[in-house]
Amino acid sequence: MRPAILNPLFTPVTTLSGVGPKQDKLLRYLLDRSDTPRLVDLLLHLPTGVIDRRARPKIRDAVPGTVVTLAVTIDRHRPSPPGRSRAPYLVHAGDDTGDIVLTYFRARSDHIEKLLPVGARRYISGTVQMFDGTLQMVHPDRVVDEAGLANLPGIEPVYPLTEGLMLGALRRAVTQALQKLPQLPEWIGADVLHRCGFPSLAEAIGRLHAPLEPTDILPDGPFWSRLAYDELLAGQLALALVRARLRRPAGARHAGDGHLRNRIIDALPYALTPSQRAAAAAIADDLQQPLRMLRLLQGDVGSGKTVVALLAAATVAEAGRQAALMAPTEILARQHIKTIAPLAERAGLRVAILTGREKGKERRDILARLAAGELDLLVGTHALIQDDVVFQALALAIVDEQHRFGVRERLALTSKGDAVDVLVLSATPIPRTLVLTYFGDMDISELREKPAGRQPIDTRAVPAGRLGDVIDAVGRAIRAGKLVYWICPLVEESEAVDHLTDATGRFDSLRRRFGDQVGLVHGQMKGAEKDRVMAQFAAADIRVLVATTVVEVGVDVPAATIMVIENAERFGLAQLHQLRGRIGRGSEASTCLLLYHEPLGEMSAARLRVIRETTDGFRIAEEDLRLRGEGDVLGTRQSGLPGYRIARSEVHGQLIAQARDEALTIMRDNPRLEGEQGAALRCLLYLFERDEAIPLIGAG
Ligand code: ADP
Ligand code: MG
Repeated sequence: MRPAILNPLFTPVTTLSGVGPKQDKLLRYLLDRSDTPRLVDLLLHLPTGVIDRRARPKIRDAVPGTVVTLAVTIDRHRPSPPGRSRAPYLVHAGDDTGDIVLTYFRARSDHIEKLLPVGARRYISGTVQMFDGTLQMVHPDRVVDEAGLANLPGIEPVYPLTEGLMLGALRRAVTQALQKLPQLPEWIGADVLHRCGFPSLAEAIGRLHAPLEPTDILPDGPFWSRLAYDELLAGQLALALVRARLRRPAGARHAGDGHLRNRIIDALPYALTPSQRAAAAAIADDLQQPLRMLRLLQGDVGSGKTVVALLAAATVAEAGRQAALMAPTEILARQHIKTIAPLAERAGLRVAILTGREKGKERRDILARLAAGELDLLVGTHALIQDDVVFQALALAIVDEQHRFGVRERLALTSKGDAVDVLVLSATPIPRTLVLTYFGDMDISELREKPAGRQPIDTRAVPAGRLGDVIDAVGRAIRAGKLVYWICPLVEESEAVDHLTDATGRFDSLRRRFGDQVGLVHGQMKGAEKDRVMAQFAAADIRVLVATTVVEVGVDVPAATIMVIENAERFGLAQLHQLRGRIGRGSEASTCLLLYHEPLGEMSAARLRVIRETTDGFRIAEEDLRLRGEGDVLGTRQSGLPGYRIARSEVHGQLIAQARDEALTIMRDNPRLEGEQGAALRCLLYLFERDEAIPLIGAG
């Protein structure tokens, strides 16, 4: 139950005066809520700027284009001529240094007459402009008399708005909400409070909405930071509470004796790299621990994550349990099974694949074997999380290319077993701040070195005008027995983007030149058809594979050594890196040609420069982050941290670690959130709606 003290904050905004059904609708949209926003939503909607009205010059000294507050005497009115309502209503005013014209469009004259009576002294505030040699103020923001001047704020916050919602209306609502803010207990520990120099919550919210200085509203200032810290602490505490619950039921060990793993390692045609061995050992160790595993296996494309995943699956199979490996695309799932199946067979590990393509009897058979415990590892796509996929004893969920899956899908897979361990495979290094924000804490294994014998890739940017040369070079390459990927961005010609090369069009033109040595694979082809073409390419029956980005992740044809990427300027950095990772996998030197159209934008030029300079996935991910901002790395395409309203990773990165540490201290000293401090922390969890973890506390 939410502490009663918070109730005023969770009342609907429609209880405020001036907020009716129309404003309700606008505020829902603005604050991204499906139902009526509450006062807390309004108070956590922070300003992005201020209007500084403190400049009080004489008219002569007012700087056009700036916001000023002027003391004037009203001289005369010039209403719009009758019948010409589009002409403005002008009010002439002045002080002892000059004149100013106040301009109103489509104004009600009775209203203006009352507001600005001739001969009266008024204070007007707004942006001044020069027009026809006269100083003007169009629709002054504020007009007050001597008495009103005392209440005219020197600095006013400016909020993100939505069409139809006026700044003034929003401000009036926020001001009322501020008055309802209850006195809340302090939940931040005294030492942290002191060390970070945070103000109280009430002071922070108060100053953000009623700043005394323009700097008061800056995200890295004390007021915003305090709120960001609250939000992060709530998030970290909720994650810590969940994690503390992730204890394995007694006796449910997930690791076996190593007999299957040894057989797989014996069957490998190569030796594991040291980091592959270390990762497999760390995973086996995790699976022995009383806490559930949450481990990220990070390794650049081609670093050999699949075999580590297979060893993890074998580890739980040795203990009589099952594993699932979920990949984002069908091609990738099939690629995995192709690598895994021969090794599994020799080790006696029972594996199957389940995607949208397994249907009818085939699918029923797989599901029956799965439920009967006759399968040790099921590889697949989203199809794995369908309701009728039931495991006998799922113990390990392996999720490949995690950033393509939402949290919902990850949870859906882990909920198919008890105390399921989680292994996340990612080619994109996830920045530490994001790992902390979304997983609280996740152990990380890195595959730093490439398997032995890999050759560097020579990457070049080539203007599209030299397409003919590139095609000639491809011709020479295939005569020399090489395999070539030719990547195009889209399948169908798009009308909006005229020069984008359509993959089928390119396929046709290359086919005319090189005959049936050219194949095509794209996302709209049927699965079996795609497989057939991929298999032909792997067998070198076709030598040029024209493809859309379906080959982006995971596809493994080590003999392919050349890649041409058309419209390279349109691809993201991570995508280019992933694509290029399809070559340079064998012992031959590889070449990647980035065909681009001129003129190159600044961002595109920067991306192509980075991709030419390095093949280090970690560096590329860092540059990507720098160029795009973090939200995009997770595929969420919003700025800031998804799921967080106030904290921003680029500004509050330090606070994330601080909040994690404080959450761990709390879990150590007061895991049941008891006493006064516990009550305050529960209040925090409810305030930021991270209370889903609270019911977990009681159940021991
Ligand atoms: P990724 O990390 O991109 O998923 P994969 O697991 O697909 O990489 O492995 C890429 C290729 O490297 C595969 O052909 C795989 O068989 C091979 N491979 C994996 N580990 C090694 C190793 N230690 N030595 C040589 N080749 C390896
Ligand atoms: Mg892979």
